[in-house]
Amino acid sequence: MKSLDVGLENILLLGDPRLRENCSPVVPEELDVLDHFVDQMASLIVTFRKTYGKGRAIAAPQIGLLKNLIVINIDNPVALYNPTLSFPHNKQVELWDDCMSFPNLMVRVKRYDKCTVNFKDRDWKDQHWELEGDMSELLQHEYDHLRGVLAIDRAIDKDAFKWFVPATP
Ligand SMILES: [Zn+2]
Repeated sequence: MKSLDVGLENILLLGDPRLRENCSPVVPEELDVLDHFVDQMASLIVTFRKTYGKGRAIAAPQIGLLKNLIVINIDNPVALYNPTLSFPHNKQVELWDDCMSFPNLMVRVKRYDKCTVNFKDRDWKDQHWELEGDMSELLQHEYDHLRGVLAIDRAIDKDAFKWFVPATP
């Protein structure tokens, strides 16, 4: 069994310069090694959700891994290698966004309400998703991470910040 001894202390926090780096593309030869990180990231999402009551996805740079990799774990873990996003139209929506790298901060941002995602899955097969609403916003957030962009960079104005206090269990 693989070791999954990762905790929330493994998530890089706002201010860490690695969150500002550009990630590099994944090549198939790296899959064996990265597979282990996918498990770790999926496990971190579960741990984060237990603590904060939210959290659906994480991008590799948030654990210091500067690779084009996003892991979503809602019902089951899904790895997205080398994702690319495109937008079928220009309609944007405003929402309160949050991030595991600044878990107590909510940021008001604008995101496209629809997006198309192309990526390689865990078996290096091509996948194509057409997303809207919550999932569209989520993918835009995670994709930003791969280019060193954080939700705070997209704050709509100076009042676009709110402190989040998780409910005590
Ligand atoms: Zn984030």
